[in-house]
Amino acid sequence: MEGKKELKLNSKCVHAGIDEYEFGPVVPPIYQTSTFKFASTEQGAALFKGEAKGYIYTRLSNPTIEAMENAVADLEEGYKALGCSSGMSAITTALMALINAGDHVICSKAVYGPTTNLIKDILGRFNIDHTFVDTTKIENVKAAITDKTKVVYIETPANPTLDITDIEETANLAHENGALLVVDNTFLSPALQQPLKLGADVVLHSMTKFLNGHADVVAGVLVAKNEELYLKLKGTLKQLGGVIDPFNAFLVHRGIKTLGLRMEKHCANAQKIAEFLERHPKVAWVSYPGLESHPQHEVAKKQQYGYGGMISFELKGGLEAGKTVMDSVKLCTLAVSLGGVETLIQHPASMTHLSMGKELREAAGITDGLVRLSVGIEDADDLIADLSQALEKI
Ligand SMILES: *Cc1c(COP(=O)(O)O)cnc(C)c1O
Repeated sequence: MEGKKELKLNSKCVHAGIDEYEFGPVVPPIYQTSTFKFASTEQGAALFKGEAKGYIYTRLSNPTIEAMENAVADLEEGYKALGCSSGMSAITTALMALINAGDHVICSKAVYGPTTNLIKDILGRFNIDHTFVDTTKIENVKAAITDKTKVVYIETPANPTLDITDIEETANLAHENGALLVVDNTFLSPALQQPLKLGADVVLHSMTKFLNGHADVVAGVLVAKNEELYLKLKGTLKQLGGVIDPFNAFLVHRGIKTLGLRMEKHCANAQKIAEFLERHPKVAWVSYPGLESHPQHEVAKKQQYGYGGMISFELKGGLEAGKTVMDSVKLCTLAVSLGGVETLIQHPASMTHLSMGKELREAAGITDGLVRLSVGIEDADDLIADLSQALEKI
């Protein structure tokens, strides 16, 4: 394990979290077991007291899960990571671990739809107050902070608008006011952005997306900056119970080996497609952090290692034109989710962000005509040809 921290991205992706195992397998074995045998009552008791090294029960820890967690922690340059059963499990666990009744949370107004609902509806029932603000402007965060604010929660780039929040600036402001910064890094993965290095306290992912990268797993992860936060998150996760299972951890760990390569291709394809869309006469606007027209292009350039694989755009004909395109594509797949090797196209207002309600959606800049594209790793020319024939149908 030691020494791997110095490696560059692709070497890390291949080797992170890989340890020595009995019989010398090159790939971590899948310990598909719920429980672990104790050698004696004495050893069992020592394990529970934390005085012996070993495993007790898979909800508490499991070698296959740990291997994947070590890989993610290494890539994010965090203290340690915790595998969760979904991205939402990671988000729920982080918020339940870090806030108490009576506290206040500030959240970016454009975030993953269910995150908005969790903060508004579920945490609201437990007397936790919130303010949704446009975190792309630090003045808005400053204005919303109170002495009760314990967590500032941002998603950057945000789903689906691709708004970018300055992580370092927001971390400094949160810390000056005694709050923690939690960052949802799903849209970029640690290959393209490492929020902990910019001052964030907790980073989380839906590993369903780029980290696994193959659209065959639902999983999440939390990465803590230090031991204190890790223990807080771990204690909460083990009681709430939303842990990942060993087989999914194995699949995600396998996916991570090609993360660097995949992200390179996602970025190259998305840049070409964004430029194609921006030039197209039927397109009203395109939001992609790699375009100079993106309002936070300079912030993205400063804090990201690449611009990612996600694009939002609106057609001149609004929703009707968008429907025509979504129903006419042949290579792109009409489906929600993102971050897999295949290109997916979807309509946030009627799909992923429907549950937010029109008012919150509009305040967050999610117009009815916005189409979201998760650009895969196919050949860009084929994707452009497909989008081109679909745009002709309008
Ligand atoms: C998908 C997603 C989530 C939720 O993840 P699940 O694995 O579906 O629970 C959270 N945040 C972002 C940005 C996402 O795209």
